Amino acid sequence: MRIVVLRVGCVDLEVVRGIQVGLCEVFSDTICEVFEQMMVVPRDAYNVARGQFLSSSILSRIWECVESRGVDRVLGVTDVDLYVPRLNFVFGEAECPGRAAIISLCRLRSEFYGDSLDRGLLVERSVKEAVHEVGHTLGLVHCHDPLCVMFFSNSIDDTDCKRSVFCEKCDRLVIECLKRV
Ligand SMILES: [Zn+2]
Ligand SMILES: [Zn+2]
Repeated sequence: MRIVVLRVGCVDLEVVRGIQVGLCEVFSDTICEVFEQMMVVPRDAYNVARGQFLSSSILSRIWECVESRGVDRVLGVTDVDLYVPRLNFVFGEAECPGRAAIISLCRLRSEFYGDSLDRGLLVERSVKEAVHEVGHTLGLVHCHDPLCVMFFSNSIDDTDCKRSVFCEKCDRLVIECLKRV
């Protein structure tokens, strides 16, 4: 599988590189690269009343930025806060199954919770959410195992509790899905 990581708006390149490395570690036989250009955050995705960006509106537009590159998946990474209509926020969203996924670093930052900057922790959390969303693009749904990366994170505690890898059951599905990519 070939994944390209696309920065949507200004994003810390060191964190993006950490996500790139993490994805390669978890998904076997996968090439992951960082797209050299960043995509401008679409202004019309902004909801003034909520002070957040509509995730699906950005998600639907990231594939076209990279489609000429011969890649299988695109993972958008943004620093803006994302939402979908029935939830207060989302850590990310993906086409399930599909080619595009996006994650937001906004609520993965320790500063968001009043703690000081911890880039190592930010990378760790970002890799978990990145693997989770790419897992959705392969067609995987949420898993009941709280340690599995496909467990749904309702809060940052859920993210911190789960691991960056798939449980045995999900891992078997990923191996099957990767054969069809
Ligand atoms: Zn999910
Ligand atoms: Zn699982």
